[in-house]
Amino acid sequence: MRYLPVFLDLKTGPVLLVGAGELALAKLRVLLAAGAQIRWFATDGNHDLTGLGDGADQIALERGDPLTADLTGVIAVLCAGAGDVGVAMAARARSVGLPINVMDDLAHSSFIFPAIVDRGDVVVAIGTGGTSPVMARRVRERIEALLPARIGDLAGFIGDFRKSINARIVEMPLRRRFWERVVDGPIGALVLAGRRSEAEAALHGIGDPTAFAGPHGGGQSEGHVTLVGAGPGDPDLLTIKALRALQDADVVFYDELVTPEILDRIRRDAARIPVGRRVGQPGIGQDAVNGLLIEAARSGKRAVRLKGGDCFVFGRGGEEVDALRAAGVSYSIVPGITAGLGAAAQFEVPLTFRSKALRITFLTAHKARDAQAVDWSALTDTKMTVVVYMGMTAAPSVRAGLLAAGRSPQTPVGVFAKVTRPDAQAAVGTLGQLPELIARIDGGPAILIIGDVVAHSAPWRQNNLGRVIAQLLEPA
Ligand code: SAH
Repeated sequence: MRYLPVFLDLKTGPVLLVGAGELALAKLRVLLAAGAQIRWFATDGNHDLTGLGDGADQIALERGDPLTADLTGVIAVLCAGAGDVGVAMAARARSVGLPINVMDDLAHSSFIFPAIVDRGDVVVAIGTGGTSPVMARRVRERIEALLPARIGDLAGFIGDFRKSINARIVEMPLRRRFWERVVDGPIGALVLAGRRSEAEAALHGIGDPTAFAGPHGGGQSEGHVTLVGAGPGDPDLLTIKALRALQDADVVFYDELVTPEILDRIRRDAARIPVGRRVGQPGIGQDAVNGLLIEAARSGKRAVRLKGGDCFVFGRGGEEVDALRAAGVSYSIVPGITAGLGAAAQFEVPLTFRSKALRITFLTAHKARDAQAVDWSALTDTKMTVVVYMGMTAAPSVRAGLLAAGRSPQTPVGVFAKVTRPDAQAAVGTLGQLPELIARIDGGPAILIIGDVVAHSAPWRQNNLGRVIAQLLEPA
C-alpha cells in the first residue's frame, strides 16, 4: 500500500481547482456533489458552468494567475485539463505543503482520487495506487452490489443516537455489541427498509441498553467460540460467514496452515494468537488450546479458532467441540474448503466420475506408523479415489500399502502442494513413481490424490501433450 485512504473534511476550507474543459467540469461535478467550496481558475478563461446545475454559489470564479494566487486557507489543490500550468502549480503547492493532485500525472501528485461508492454517511474509497482505474471501477461495481441502498441512512441513524445510548452503557465491548445487535437485528432491518420512525420507536422501547447488549444483564457479556475453516490458502475462498466471524472477533487462535493473506482479513483490533506447530517446534498442545478457547469465552470474548481447510477434516475440531460442550461454552462452526477439494478444483481432478469413480476416501498417513495402521485392503477398489492428508513423509509406506493390497503400480497419482496459493505446485505420474513425484515438490503442505480420475487432471493432460510433442520432435 503506497497511498493511504483518508477522508478530507470539505468544511474546513476551499479547494483550489486549476484547469479547463471537460476534465475541469468533471472535477467540479465531484466536488459539488461532496459539498466543497471551490475556487476555480479556468486556464482558458472560460468559466462556463452550463450543465452543472445549481452549485454556482459553491464556486468562486477566479481570474488572474493561479501561480501567484493567495493560498491562505486552501485545503487542497486540483489540476484537471491544466496543461503545463498543472506542473508548475504542483511545484508551488508542494513548496507550501498543500496536498496536490494533477490529473493523470502521478509524478506531480501527492494524492490521488479513489473510485467512490457514495451512500451518504457511508463512503467507500477504492484505490489501485493509480495503476488501473478500470480495476477500481470493477471493484466499485461489486461493492455497490453488496451494500444495501440505505446503509447510509443506517449510519446516520446510529450517529443520531450514539451519544445518548453510549452514555447509558459503561463498558466498551457492550457498547459495540449493542450497536451490532441494532445493525444486525430488526431495528437495522427497519431502517434499511426505509421505516425510520418505527426503528426509532423500537430503539426508544429498549428499557435497559446493557441488558439488550448481553443476555445476562448487569454488564456480564456472553462469550462465544466460532470454529472457522479458513480453506486451503486463497483468502477469496473464505465463506462470507467466515469473513464475518473474522471481522467480529476479539481474539483469533490460528494454526500454522493459515496464510498471512487470510490473517489480513481479521479485524485490525483483534488479538492474534498462533497456537500451531512452528517449523521444528511443537504446538502448545490440544489441551492447552481447548483451555485458551474456554478461558476466552468465559471472559466474555468472541473467540475464533481459525484452521486451515475445514475444522472437521483432520482438524481436531471434534475434540475442541467436546471440550466446549463439557465447559458449557457457546460455540458455532463455520465450514471451510478442505485441501482435497481445493486441489481438485485448482488442478481439475474430478474426485468422482460417472461410472468410473464412485467413492472417495479421505485418510491421513502422517508418519510411517500411521500408514502401517491403515487397512489398505479396504482401498483396492479401482472405482475409489483416495485422498491422503499429511502424506508427504509417509509416501513410501502409502505406496507399499496400496501395492501390497493389489492396486496397480500404473494407478494415476497426483501430489498437489500449497494448493490455491500463488506458489501452488503439482506433480503427476503413477503410484509406482510416487516417491519421485514427492521429490519434485519444493515443500508442503501437500496432498496426494490417488485414482484413475487423476488422468483427467490438467497437469496430467499437459504432461501427455508434452510427451506427444517430444515424440514428434524426435528424429525418426
Ligand atoms: N483441516 C485441513 C487439514 C489439516 S491436516 C483441511 O481440511 O484441509 C494438514 C494437511 O492438510 C497437510 O499435511 C496437507 O496434506 C493438507 N493441506 C492443508 N493445506 C494444504 C494446501 N494448501 N495444499 C496442499 N495440502 C494442504
